[in-house]
Formats: sequence, C-alpha cells, structure tokens
Amino acid sequence: ESDGEAEEYLFKVVIIGDSAVGKTNLLSRYARSEFNLHSKATIGVEFQTQSMDIDGKEVKAQIWDTAGQERFRAVTSAYYRGAFGALLVYDISRRSTFDSVGRWLLELNTHSDTTVAKMLVGNKCDLDNIREVPVEEGKALAEAEGLFFMETSALDATNVKTAFDIVIREIYSNV
Ligand code: GDP
Ligand code: MG
Repeated sequence: ESDGEAEEYLFKVVIIGDSAVGKTNLLSRYARSEFNLHSKATIGVEFQTQSMDIDGKEVKAQIWDTAGQERFRAVTSAYYRGAFGALLVYDISRRSTFDSVGRWLLELNTHSDTTVAKMLVGNKCDLDNIREVPVEEGKALAEAEGLFFMETSALDATNVKTAFDIVIREIYSNV
C-alpha cells in the first residue's frame, strides 16, 4: 500500500474436539496447502498463521491446535481466549466423538465473550465404509445449534480448505 495505512485483520481460530478426531492433521493439511508442500507440521506448535485475500484485504487467521490436552479434558481458558472462530471436530467413524460435540460447544460458549463463527466438522469422510455417524445427523445437529457444517478428510484433502475458509470469511463478515 502506498500510504502504509492498509487495514490489517488477524483472527484467532481454535480447533476443538475429542482426541484423535484429526484436529492436528486438518491444520497441517490446510497449512501445507498454503505454504509448503514438502514440509511436515511440527508437533507441539501452538498455532499456525494463514493469510487469505478477502475483498482485496489481507486477512490472517491464527489457527490454534491443542497439544493433546483434550485427552485429559484439560483445554485451558487461555486456549479459547480471544477466539473469533472455531472448528468443532468429530470423527464420522466413531460415534462417541460425535456424542462429545455438545460438551465441546458448551465449553466454547462458556469461554467466549464475542460472536464466534462455528463450523461443525465431520472428519475422516474417506472412511465411509466404517461410518458410524450418518451425514444427516451431522447436518441436523449443526442446524439445531446454528453451526456451519462440513464433512472433511484430512487424508485426501476433501473440503479442508473450504471448511477453514468459510469460518474465516464468516468472521470477516461479522466484524
Ligand atoms: P487429533 O488428536 O485430533 O489432533 O488427531 P490427529 O490429527 O493426531 O489424528 C489422529 C489419527 O487419525 C492419526 O492416526 C491420523 O493419521 C488419523 N486421521 C486424521 N485425519 C484423518 C482423515 O481424514 N482420515 C483418516 N482415514 N485418518 C485420519
Ligand atoms: Mg492433535
């Protein structure tokens, strides 16, 4: 920009859901497709920043991944603090992870003091042959709770970019 007065947007987005639903792989799949096709996601990184162009403006999303605390139901309030978007992830091949979504949503709502753009994500849709959660159930829950909904596969990349992009665009349209 010529005058150095360009607006900047930086939004925090959190990924939550039960252990092993694919949160870390969703983020590395998304980040890899934007940055470096040949590098692996570093384990233990708190967040990764992705940039996208919306209406000619640079919008950055700081996407947070848990470091495995969810295994002990010990995701801290610092993790949620300041989040404007959230991906609530379950695994379509494990019913118990879908049953946990309500608890994650409650925890998210308890910790947030702003409007949060929320996407319910049914991950591992490549495992359709051992599916335990019908797509209609995911859709119905999302509708009932006012969430966006998408089935994804971090394995084959189905809808991964779309899911993150929808959340980031929704945040942008909210501000
Ligand atoms: P997290 O604990 O939620 O961060 O889950 P991870 O990203 O560590 O993934 C847990 C396991 O599920 C790993 O073995 C992954 O390889 C596998 N996984 C993650 N996403 C997918 C997916 O979309 N499809 C399949 N088939 N496996 C996946
Ligand atoms: Mg993880």
